Amino acid sequence: MTESNEALVLRATAFAAEVHTHQRRKGAAQEPYVNHVIEVAAALAAAGAPVPAILAGLLHDTIEDGDTVGRPVTERELAERFGAEVAAIVVEVTDDKTLPKAERKRRQVETATKKSEAARMVKLADKAANLRAITVSPPPSWDLARKRDYLDWADAVAAGCRGVNPSLEEAFDTALALARTALEDQTLD
Ligand code: ZN
Repeated sequence: MTESNEALVLRATAFAAEVHTHQRRKGAAQEPYVNHVIEVAAALAAAGAPVPAILAGLLHDTIEDGDTVGRPVTERELAERFGAEVAAIVVEVTDDKTLPKAERKRRQVETATKKSEAARMVKLADKAANLRAITVSPPPSWDLARKRDYLDWADAVAAGCRGVNPSLEEAFDTALALARTALEDQTLD
């Protein structure tokens, strides 16, 4: 029997939950990390993204974060579990952790336009989710300037991901506008 899309999506959700078990978000509320990847995948599904993009949304941080949380994940393991297409999308949205952070951030901006459509959809949904997180539950150690920098950077990455899914772009633009308003309100405090 071939696996249904529902079964596949839930299997990827369970796998992401396993990898991110001991990981928390950086925000003040310290939500379980898996909340983030489910939010990203749900946004992709709501925007009509194809199933491989939704699966990659669930799995997008497994390779990048697996090492540091004690459950290393390779492209090969993802390919065996979820197919080569999904694994390749995850690799596309995975930063090279051997590079310094500033360089990684610069590369995200630079390489966005060269990525596959599915990878650009995942990036748009991911950045929108991070903007919402900064609005609702910002990392306590981040000052206003750092938040502003993050917003500008996310905007630059998203610029390179446009043209693949209007609903995701709209959701990103809404999240960015809300984040900017929230920061302005903080300036006035
Ligand atoms: Zn993410």
